[in-house]
Amino acid sequence: MLNFDLHCHSNISDGVLSPEALAARAKENGVEVWALTDHDEVAGVPIARAAAQSLGMQHIAGVEVSISWAGETVHILGLKIDETCPELLHGLATTRFGRSARAKEIGLQLEKAGIPDAYQGALKYAGNPGLVGRTHFARYIVETGVCDKVGEVFRKYLVEGKPGFVPHCWATLEQAISWIHAANGIAVVAHPGRYKYSDLAESEMLARFKELGGTAIEVVTGSHTVDQYQHYAQVANRFDFLASVGSDFHAPGESRVDLGRLPPLPKNVKPVWHDWF
Ligand code: AMP
Ligand code: MN
Ligand code: MN
Ligand code: MN
Repeated sequence: MLNFDLHCHSNISDGVLSPEALAARAKENGVEVWALTDHDEVAGVPIARAAAQSLGMQHIAGVEVSISWAGETVHILGLKIDETCPELLHGLATTRFGRSARAKEIGLQLEKAGIPDAYQGALKYAGNPGLVGRTHFARYIVETGVCDKVGEVFRKYLVEGKPGFVPHCWATLEQAISWIHAANGIAVVAHPGRYKYSDLAESEMLARFKELGGTAIEVVTGSHTVDQYQHYAQVANRFDFLASVGSDFHAPGESRVDLGRLPPLPKNVKPVWHDWF
């Protein structure tokens, strides 16, 4: 089986490497089919495609769309998209729009919690000022010495119930899928094991995703434990979803799994790429 890695981030969203450097790292790590899936932005896709081509690596155009569903943020990947589709571009622009105000509010909340200047600090880490996210805050807070690791910053400051958490209303599931489909792409639920849903709420979300024409879920991802690979393989089969693989790599020394370093899909699922080549 080819080495697929269909989920990672560049410095156009909250990764630290450029699309070119990511492509080179993917190639070096043995990836044969690669997708860059920045949050809510496709500006890196043409750069990724050209870099992959020059390295002799297959490239799949991708994006990771932030949505809100039943009070939880969920990520929907669009794969094999036409990144020039006006409906997709317009949709992504609207969903990026709220990030600036949210980031300023996160800065204010962190200031109250005793961490001044975090908004300016986060901006330093944002390769793209139009896309400031929590990861940029986390990197800045590590720089200040208040925490040792990005994961620790999330746990102590940036997740629901913690002082720097600012609730945000992203796109709807319906919108994200309609933009992806308008761009001739396929929709994939990213890292389903990461959401704080009950089993019932998870099933409802996946059933609605299916009803709207969603195609696949990630089964093997850097966000899942080995036990979750098997669990979500069964979930994929129960809903008749195809299965995807992606490291969700963001940064050397920060991400749990490097590009191309995930195990293959369990044998009992149908890969999302079964009809691609
Ligand atoms: P945002 O889109 O600004 O809400 O940031 C979401 C991003 O934060 C995700 O894509 C991850 O890169 C990162 N993230 C979320 N939760 C955690 C966590 N517990 N540890 C490390 N990074 C996280
Ligand atoms: Mn991210
Ligand atoms: Mn995600
Ligand atoms: Mn991701």
